[in-house]
Amino acid sequence: MKAVVIGAGVVGVTTAYYLAKSGHEVTVVEREPKVATLASAGNAGLIAPSHSFSWASPTAPMELLRSITIEDTALRINPFKAPGMAAWGLKFLRECNAGRSVKNTLVKLRLAQYSQRMLDEIAGAEKIDYHDIHAGLLYLYRDPKRMEAAVAKWELIRDHGQAQRILDPDGVAEVEPALAPVKHKLAGAIYGPTDSSGDSVKFTRDLQAVCERMGTRFVLGKSVTRLLAKGRRIGALATAAGEAIGGDVFVLSAGIHSPQIARTVGVRLPIAPAKGYSATFPVKSDGGVVPRVGAVDEELLVAWCRMGDRLRITSSAEFTGYETTYRESDFRIIRKLAETLLPDAAEYEHGSYRACNRPMTPGGPPILGTAGYDNLYINSGHGHMGFTMACGSSRIVADLINGVKTEIPVEGLTLTAHP
Ligand SMILES: Cc1cc2nc3c(=O)[nH]c(=O)nc-3n(C[C@H](O)[C@H](O)[C@H](O)COP(=O)(O)OP(=O)(O)OC[C@H]3O[C@@H](n4cnc5c(N)ncnc54)[C@H](O)[C@@H]3O)c2cc1C
Repeated sequence: MKAVVIGAGVVGVTTAYYLAKSGHEVTVVEREPKVATLASAGNAGLIAPSHSFSWASPTAPMELLRSITIEDTALRINPFKAPGMAAWGLKFLRECNAGRSVKNTLVKLRLAQYSQRMLDEIAGAEKIDYHDIHAGLLYLYRDPKRMEAAVAKWELIRDHGQAQRILDPDGVAEVEPALAPVKHKLAGAIYGPTDSSGDSVKFTRDLQAVCERMGTRFVLGKSVTRLLAKGRRIGALATAAGEAIGGDVFVLSAGIHSPQIARTVGVRLPIAPAKGYSATFPVKSDGGVVPRVGAVDEELLVAWCRMGDRLRITSSAEFTGYETTYRESDFRIIRKLAETLLPDAAEYEHGSYRACNRPMTPGGPPILGTAGYDNLYINSGHGHMGFTMACGSSRIVADLINGVKTEIPVEGLTLTAHP
């Protein structure tokens, strides 16, 4: 079959890989001149099944309300900048009750565990070195009361097959010697020993090269403006340059822009942008104390990992519409993290900065499978865990297209599960 994939972030390129691998003639259409330039370029690089908790939780509405008046909350909303968010916001609130939150978390966990396995399998089979580090991830707490509450909360993940260790400050220093000088600032950590980290840009671009060797065509710098439907099928897509690209099957993996493209054939996708800030610094080459184990400061909600000779640090989730502007002050939480926990890790005066948008569904799990038309598939809405969940999601979508039984259930992942 002729398969057309829209969008070449980590999700689109892994989709192309599985489709090409199963013998299809694949074309990928991407608006930017290179693959992996939007969300896939700014993430913290954590492969973190342990962090599968749904953002829609019983405490989230209060956190968002506080953010309207208080500057430094991790989850933020600006109702003036995100005026079109009302319908999505109501759906998000509906997912915030305890029952839905647990259900969504477990759907994500199952997908994330499967996806990490698929990522390791691809990297092994295709010999892709993406600066991956398989040393677990640390989820750090500064306040003993919050740490105690977290131990109770994280039982859910542990009870569903995710390895976990509770560490005191000495234990943290043992796992990550770079944190030994600051261990007195910590109450402890939850350690996910099987979590990992890596560079999603390098992974995606190396996988693009593998796809090209299998015959996949990457049409770069072409924006898809709409889909062209004929009865119950999509016949082609149209680009801004006026071309039509036909195919037998279409996969929409355009991140936060998927809803806009789906709407051209009347399909509504509940995916909204959640902006994050991302800073990258060269690690100190001598005399530095550079971390090896990726981590999240659970109180500042700042995440980091080493990517070769660089340190990536990311922060914040702001519902402020589609824009990706930033000011120096938007990086204050990242600076605070660097000063307090990683003061000697990197050359902080030589940073590069960006903002990008996570494609969020209200409940958290992505949308996988057909939508509205027999040959239109969605692989979008991976939110804060798209690097973690990409390979598994793409394998599932390829299996659905091929009519093969998926290795894990698709329950909770289809469009009908995202009313
Ligand atoms: C600050 C931050 C930190 C994060 N940290 C982590 C982490 O540690 N671990 C993790 O697992 N995930 C993390 N994520 C989430 C992860 O990066 C995303 O979920 C993932 O990159 C989404 O991939 P994607 O391919 O769906 O989207 P994208 O990477 O945004 O790709 C979508 C592509 O579609 C293209 N496109 C859009 N519209 C069109 C069009 N009309 N025509 C053609 N092409 C189009 C875009 O140009 C883009 O290349 C983080 C995200 C952010 C923002």
